[in-house]
Amino acid sequence: MAKLEILEIPDPRLRTVAKPVEAFDDGLLQLIEDMTETMYEAQGIGLAATQVNVHKRLLVLDVSEAQDQPRVYINPEILETEGRETCEEGCLSVPGIYAEVSRAEKITVKAQNADGSFFEEELDGMHAVCLQHEMDHLVGKLFVDYLSPLKRRMVTKKLEKQRKVSGQKPAKALL
Ligand code: ZN
Repeated sequence: MAKLEILEIPDPRLRTVAKPVEAFDDGLLQLIEDMTETMYEAQGIGLAATQVNVHKRLLVLDVSEAQDQPRVYINPEILETEGRETCEEGCLSVPGIYAEVSRAEKITVKAQNADGSFFEEELDGMHAVCLQHEMDHLVGKLFVDYLSPLKRRMVTKKLEKQRKVSGQKPAKALL
């Protein structure tokens, strides 16, 4: 199956705001399948459509240990949040960079399944972190945007240096 290309910063297409999914058709099912496969191949635990240059509001994730529980969230909306938690994050679109980001500890999310039906879930832990990270992608936001200007400059420098060294493989969880 088609493995999709993952956009990397500073690609301006990562800044696109996605539009709601309206057609729950075969094309959508194929996209979900391709995105899930691409996520696993890249050793990620989450992938937003924006990252593969499809500007629709959907994301896939799998935060299970065995990587055998793929999930899809279509037109996700956060209804409620609780607490704050800081977690080290990485991103398939920002290779090799990890940084602490503060997000809501618990969230209640409403979204649609592949068949268009609605569901609501309460999430915490890595599942909540991952969902918030992926939902940011859908509005053109990256986790490095949360860093201070000084830290962001350091990240940019590191990325430039890294590009010269090919074949680096990420070791940690990527969203
Ligand atoms: Zn990401």
